[in-house]
Amino acid sequence: MLVHICCSVDSHFFLERLKKDFPDEKLTGFFYDPNIHPYSEYRLRLLDVERSCKKLGIELIEGEYDFENWLEAVRGLENEPEKGKRCEVCFDRRLEVAAKKAKELGEEKYTTTLLVSPLKSQQQLKSSAERIDRKLGLKFVFVDYRSRGGTQEQARVSKEEQLYRQDYCGCLFGLAKQRAEQEQKNRFLYAESSQLLDEMISPLTNRILPASIEERLALYRERIRLEEKGIPYKIIKEKFLNWRILRGFVKVSKQTVPSYFLAYSIMKREYAKGKIEFEVEDVGYMNRDEAKFITIEKFNKLTGSDFKDTKELMLKGVEFEKEVEARRAVVFGEYDLSPVIVTDTIPDSKVEVFLQSKIYVDVRENLVTLR
Ligand code: SF4
Repeated sequence: MLVHICCSVDSHFFLERLKKDFPDEKLTGFFYDPNIHPYSEYRLRLLDVERSCKKLGIELIEGEYDFENWLEAVRGLENEPEKGKRCEVCFDRRLEVAAKKAKELGEEKYTTTLLVSPLKSQQQLKSSAERIDRKLGLKFVFVDYRSRGGTQEQARVSKEEQLYRQDYCGCLFGLAKQRAEQEQKNRFLYAESSQLLDEMISPLTNRILPASIEERLALYRERIRLEEKGIPYKIIKEKFLNWRILRGFVKVSKQTVPSYFLAYSIMKREYAKGKIEFEVEDVGYMNRDEAKFITIEKFNKLTGSDFKDTKELMLKGVEFEKEVEARRAVVFGEYDLSPVIVTDTIPDSKVEVFLQSKIYVDVRENLVTLR
């Protein structure tokens, strides 16, 4: 039987149950999920499914990541709610490709781990499968592992196996809707919450940002390494203040100059116009928004880098932690959020600063080794 797989949290429990209920079947996993966006999230979910299938001794085939075709299929349905028409098309597509793969492999039966997800409509999945079965002459295996305590059991397995628990279904549209709803709820909890789709932000420099998908990917790769070495570990969560820059630039005498805003720089308004009032120890103090300027030379000294100019820094960046260290050396204490801006030279005439950035409460995962 070919088993279409959506994620490890659903597949690990589902495959365990399927193995028990169909002891004579050779199960083959098929990861076909071009709905998952961005691509780094797709890699992360696949990585965890690979780990899970390996543990269960199940062969896994990766389908094509044909994201553009998926987008085309759901065109016009972007604003549909979850369990709506877009999800129907999404299921049709994934199940049809899975059914074709089953046929190609000479299988007569196929199923999907989506059936066990508490957030999916089993009725929608059933209807999609019936249409496909009529078209391709295959047999979709419907199993309900959610009822009679199944969902609770699935949660237990997921915790025990420390599976990667994504916090959105997969697509960009579902995520945008979910974030808008979270924003409404969190408004009363945090003075500054966020509807920022930080999953969709990747910096020009490709550096790894805190709580980004890339950071999680590195962590889940590391856990595989620990497991291979037999080192016990725990994945723990921590709440922290996160930061993302959306846009920022500096003009000196009306000319845009290369500039780089250090992490946790934020302004009350997005625009400030003024001048550098004084300089102390190579830090230029602007008379607006507590902004501070340092030269690329000073930045190089603080971070042990050797960027030839600010432009190079803008394109290459430095590790996030190093940047935070450099910031600490310039501002007054841990909680100072003034904009700190790197330029080639400290501006000596009229300066305009434009900055759109966000600071927000976030949660990240960390690995703790137990010895
Ligand atoms: S919310 Fe989930 S099931 Fe619905 S379209 Fe998006 S990825 Fe597919």
